Amino acid sequence: MTTLTEKLIEQTEQYGANNYNPLPIVISKAEGVWVEDPEGNKYMDMLSAYSAVNQGHRHPKIIDELKKQADRVTLTSRAFHSDKLGPWYEMVSRITQKDMALPMNTGAEAVETAIKAVRRWGYDVKGIAENQAEIIACIGNFHGRTMAAVSLSSDDEYRRGFGPMLPGIKLIPYGDLDALKEAITPQTAGFLIEPIQGEAGIIIPPQGFLKEAYDLCKENNVLFVSDEIQSGLGRSGKMFASDWDGVVPDMYILGKALGGGVFPISCVAANREILGVFNPGSHGSTFGGNPLACAVSIASLEVLEEEKLAERSLELGQYFMDSLKEIKNPMIKDIRGRGLFIGVELTEAARPYCEQLKEEKLLCKETHDTVIRFAPPLVITKEDLDWAIECIKKVLS
Ligand code: PLP
Repeated sequence: MTTLTEKLIEQTEQYGANNYNPLPIVISKAEGVWVEDPEGNKYMDMLSAYSAVNQGHRHPKIIDELKKQADRVTLTSRAFHSDKLGPWYEMVSRITQKDMALPMNTGAEAVETAIKAVRRWGYDVKGIAENQAEIIACIGNFHGRTMAAVSLSSDDEYRRGFGPMLPGIKLIPYGDLDALKEAITPQTAGFLIEPIQGEAGIIIPPQGFLKEAYDLCKENNVLFVSDEIQSGLGRSGKMFASDWDGVVPDMYILGKALGGGVFPISCVAANREILGVFNPGSHGSTFGGNPLACAVSIASLEVLEEEKLAERSLELGQYFMDSLKEIKNPMIKDIRGRGLFIGVELTEAARPYCEQLKEEKLLCKETHDTVIRFAPPLVITKEDLDWAIECIKKVLS
């Protein structure tokens, strides 16, 4: 007899473009760290929708704001003001310590926004000759799936068949200060970096690299732009992953947990001399900064602060990491991470282990073939984490 799960997967595969390779599980309900399939089986979510659900699934405060706002006004477009946009701007400005922000919807759109801002700053403020601006990014990066984002990528599969790519991009090895020094020219407008490379397999730069790179950018009048879409907002055990090196970047790119896993919202945040390059007509989005997204985002940021989720991530992350390191298996090549953002690198394919973990009712996903990423919602309790550690020990020992 076919189960509802099987029917739903079949339907998805028949009518949907084949651009993902999900585990064979259908989620029809969720709360906190737990999700449920149509047959009523419960699983723990150790992926958090790629860190969009840092606040936990359907956090009551965020859902309450969503419902209240849905009963008032959802969309005004930016042709008019809304009573949620100003308060949201002020809150993002306080959290990022930046003068201003520009809201979009998805992470990739915020990356596009950052590239446009950096280029225009390069021309209007730095004085780079027309169409000569360069942006430096890192090998192994993931900045999304739009044309600008894949133009930044070093991964053939992300780029194949989509050319021509955006010009004016240079790539350097991640964490290589000498390579950055060499790549910078008078035409360099910005250096774009993930302070922890998430999709590449939780790659952490050498201690102090972010600060040295930031200083080098300052010496050369180059904007240091931190893509914290996945690593930011508490995930790494600090509010921003750049905090690990004491760096306040020139520009933050935020997304995912900015909407608490409830409603899409992303943004860039920077000071006036950078974001001031935009004028009416130069950039925008119909849904960007809509009142529903702003209301949800304010509540999502309040939850992060009120529940001290960054601190929680730091503390539980250390405990999780120490427990994982107790597993003795030569197949485990490396265990690394910051906060509740942990990668276990294997000497072989990670997918079969993710499938076995699913059988144990723990959901996680391989990244770059050999790495299992563990990134539970930051609201996870120590008790639930202990349960997860037992499952992982059972499968990986
Ligand atoms: N940048 C980083 C570092 C990401 O991890 C992601 C998504 O995983 C993106 C950008 C793209 O975000 P979105 O999928 O919302 O477009």
